Amino acid sequence: MTKKIFRGILFSSILTMLASLVFIIGVQYQIYVDSRYSSLRSKAYLISLSVNEAELQKYSSAEERITLIDRNGSVIFDNKADAAKMENHAGREEVKEALKDGTGYAVRRSETLGISSCYYAIKLQNGNILRVADTELSAGAVILQLLPPIAAIALLAFVLALVLASVISKKILKPINSVDLDSPETLSGYDELAPFVSKINSQRRRINRQIAELQGRRREFEAIAENMNEGLLLTDTKGHILTHNSSIRRFFGVQDDINGQNILTLNRSEVFREVFENIRESRHYENTITLGGMCYEVTANPVFDENNTPCGAVILVVDVTEKEKREKFRREFTANVSHELKTPLTSILGISDMLKNGIVAADDIKDFGADINKEAERLISLVNDIIKLSELDEGEVHNTERVDLLKSANEVASRLYPIAEKRGVSLAVAGESAEIQAGESLIFEMIYNLCDNAIKYNKENGSVTVTAGYKDGTPFVSVKDTGIGIAPEHTERIFERFYRVDKSRSKQSGGTGLGLSIVKHIAASFGGKVTLKSTLGEGTEITVTFNK
Ligand code: ADP
Repeated sequence: MTKKIFRGILFSSILTMLASLVFIIGVQYQIYVDSRYSSLRSKAYLISLSVNEAELQKYSSAEERITLIDRNGSVIFDNKADAAKMENHAGREEVKEALKDGTGYAVRRSETLGISSCYYAIKLQNGNILRVADTELSAGAVILQLLPPIAAIALLAFVLALVLASVISKKILKPINSVDLDSPETLSGYDELAPFVSKINSQRRRINRQIAELQGRRREFEAIAENMNEGLLLTDTKGHILTHNSSIRRFFGVQDDINGQNILTLNRSEVFREVFENIRESRHYENTITLGGMCYEVTANPVFDENNTPCGAVILVVDVTEKEKREKFRREFTANVSHELKTPLTSILGISDMLKNGIVAADDIKDFGADINKEAERLISLVNDIIKLSELDEGEVHNTERVDLLKSANEVASRLYPIAEKRGVSLAVAGESAEIQAGESLIFEMIYNLCDNAIKYNKENGSVTVTAGYKDGTPFVSVKDTGIGIAPEHTERIFERFYRVDKSRSKQSGGTGLGLSIVKHIAASFGGKVTLKSTLGEGTEITVTFNK
């Protein structure tokens, strides 16, 4: 801006200077013309005092040209040319004028001398005309004469204009440059700048308001993004990360700020390469990816601006590990249930087919009937267990009440004594009353399953002890047997649905493979924790500890 003002001032100064010079030259030239005329006239009157040729001879070497012409225009005398050879001058403008009015003046090119001259003619008393002529300087010649002083003046004026333009432009801009944009109102004493200052002020207030609004929105967005369990990535159309949340850093195990980097630096898997390609093509994309044993669902959606031009993408990364696990678990459970149901049904179908076709000997009918009965019982216990599990899965915990673990243990024992006796296993209940808040029938079911297993997987003359009471002030119930025990590699898995260490033994004794899953589920429903201690060939102790 300083340069612009400087150039403006300089340009107008030079223009003014040039106009002044032209005017001065014009005036000078006019002065010159006027002075030339009056000097020529004075000379003409002076010379007119010598009227005859002889007297005029003394002017033969004079600077100006002197001509004497008779009333008919014939040249009598001329101090610069041969009068006899000169043509008639009656037609000359100044001569004509002098003959008519007494004096005549003309400026033209001399036909005799061939130079530009000015002429002054006076009519003498004898009727002749005396004419005095002098060389006329053209305007160009006059300017040429004036050029050195004019050039000196112009140079001086130019330097002056240069200095003044620089000083003035700086002076004009000084208050504007010194304005404090944060508080422009401090600029006082410049009334002309008042509208400018007030405009800056209102603009500044508007910008501050908008900045505050944007910052507020940004904070809001960041707070939401940071509290999201899902990973959020915003990218441009080339896949460069514009922003991301902490879940992304957690999922991908990055510590540093990854803004500005390409998403491929975050992960180079096939899925992310496809995400990258789809972002560039502004297409929707979704897939699942496994990272460090975790499963994530990646969804990329293109973002368009108001002109429907793609301007980036939003990538959402959701942890679906649990969902996937549940899905897998559900698939396996369904397959297991189908398989488990199919086995007894196939036996029933086979036996009933044989009975229908009458190929069973009359003596064997009773045994086959017993087999059908056994398989049907297995089916019922299986269906019951499945129903129980699905109820527990649904979280259907019946009304809770105060349940005494010792009392439940005694009830289970009284139910199982005959079975234990049949298998040659002694069953005992020990301990003290320990009350918990739970569902009585479910606690019964839990202790029953544990005791049933302890009897089933026992040895001849083995024993089962059910103990209830408090350990470190916490209610517990434990079932200890002197049975076959469980090898360490199975201890974790026996709580899985349908997992059996020895399948045939389990089936033979009417097991469904769901007993311990139900135990674990019931315990968890009432805040209980199941722990197992077992030594292969020596026995097992399973304890359920409840909250205080
Ligand atoms: P099942 O109906 O087969 O008994 P469970 O879920 O109750 O199913 O038990 C799972 C498996 O754990 C059993 O098949 C058995 O191999 C093992 N198991 C359970 N309890 C005991 C125990 N007290 N002693 C030894 N093995 C046991």
